[in-house]
Amino acid sequence: MRNIGKEIERLHQELPPEVTLVCVSKFHPQESLMQAYDAGQRIFGESRVQELTQKAATLPKDIAWHFIGHLQTNKVKQVLPLTTLIHSVDSPRLLAEIERVAANLNVVCDCLVQIHIAQEEQKFGFDFEEFECYLQSEEYKQLSHVHICGLMGMATYTDSVETIKREFSGLRNYFDTIKQHYFSESNHFKELSMGMSGDYVEAIASGSTMVRIGSTIFGERM
Ligand SMILES: *Cc1c(COP(=O)(O)O)cnc(C)c1O
Repeated sequence: MRNIGKEIERLHQELPPEVTLVCVSKFHPQESLMQAYDAGQRIFGESRVQELTQKAATLPKDIAWHFIGHLQTNKVKQVLPLTTLIHSVDSPRLLAEIERVAANLNVVCDCLVQIHIAQEEQKFGFDFEEFECYLQSEEYKQLSHVHICGLMGMATYTDSVETIKREFSGLRNYFDTIKQHYFSESNHFKELSMGMSGDYVEAIASGSTMVRIGSTIFGERM
């Protein structure tokens, strides 16, 4: 049997102290999450609304839930009160809906903007130019209940370490440029969420501040 607690402890030791571990628990049962929790893990990432809702209702209240999956606008109302950070904001329309819901609840929602860096078509996110355009728009200036806390990206699923490194360092350079031009006055824009089980070492070498790790901890998803 896999020792989930040991994996958490090992990662907490291995990762540089400035890198946050998001334990990706999607598709895994609550008992497995509790093993990670008992080893000291408090940040968990989920990618489906229904699963998040069920787990958040029953698991300990000091867990910080991050939403990491594609979020449909009609689910924002459900997700927002349950999460401390949404990693996967991938369109102006979704940002507008988060703004609307957060304003109604009189809260500010912490978000990362997902940038499309992979070769695969199906991965969501803004293109580099598209997000920069958005930052110059009136729509963006209207956001007062959203903190853009940084960027998120997923590399191509490939054996080519070169490709992965190129994509991650491209995103890191973009992050630095955007921060300098648009967020120099912001205390919030500081997170770069990149790296999963297969590529977190490369991501950290490229300057990731948050890694989202599932199968290394829990084994393959059922
Ligand atoms: C599932 C998932 C992960 C974790 O993937 P592993 O390969 O199991 O570590 C990370 N990020 C996102 C967005 C995911 O959907």
